[in-house]
Amino acid sequence: MNPVDFHIHTTLSCDGHCTIEEVCRKAIEIGLQAVCFTEHFDLDTNDPGYGFFNYEEYSSQVDEARRCFGGQLTILKGIEADYQSRFEGQLRRWLKDKELDLVLGSVHYVDGVTLSEELVRTRNLDELYEAYLGEVRLSAESGLFGAIGHLDYVKKYTGDASYLESSDRLQSALEATLQSIIRNRAALEVSTKGLVAKSRDYRPSLKIVRLYRDLGGRKIIIGSDAHDTYVLGTGVSTLSQLAQKAGVEVVTQAQDLMSFGRALAKMNGI
Ligand SMILES: [Zn+2]
Ligand SMILES: [Zn+2]
Repeated sequence: MNPVDFHIHTTLSCDGHCTIEEVCRKAIEIGLQAVCFTEHFDLDTNDPGYGFFNYEEYSSQVDEARRCFGGQLTILKGIEADYQSRFEGQLRRWLKDKELDLVLGSVHYVDGVTLSEELVRTRNLDELYEAYLGEVRLSAESGLFGAIGHLDYVKKYTGDASYLESSDRLQSALEATLQSIIRNRAALEVSTKGLVAKSRDYRPSLKIVRLYRDLGGRKIIIGSDAHDTYVLGTGVSTLSQLAQKAGVEVVTQAQDLMSFGRALAKMNGI
């Protein structure tokens, strides 16, 4: 089975550099069987992405891409919603009338401050990770998300690939977070983006994926977090094989995502 890439940004995200059409052409060229666009959606007025995303424009461009490329490529319509617990109610209301194949929930802020190299330098790293994982747990418990994004994202700024899984102090918080994702029936997202970053590792690492499996987690989604077509599909094939070896299933169909958090959210009246 050909690989899939379920984490992609285009010019419909504030920081994307490629169009939906360019992504579809490239995906077909490199042999992907499915793509899921995950445009940024932010509710924090201080975020550079605030107010940028246009759902109607996005929907019409995805419809057009499905008309042009649907015979050769499965095209899913998702968003990467920035999760901050203080905006959860707003996000819940916004999602209510949206038709999306995937709502990926990602934490980029801790205590209202965006993660950065300066933040990881000036704060105790265990405390920072604890606060980060606390937000991730709340994101899973919200029931809003089909998948939970880049669980050990702090390492993007520390460059230390294994800090989270090797710090004794963080083990209980890490396990509680994975258990919360499992209990709330969200998939765990594993991105290949870190392979080309300072940490040179998956986000989260395979060690964390194995812990997720040991705790009862079964489904992951895989993505490159591409913002340019040259990144599209990077490493997804190898990661799919490694995931299968590790005993977790890579979600490749929209229905499988719907059966996770989003369906649960629907039952909760969202
Ligand atoms: Zn993200
Ligand atoms: Zn992203």
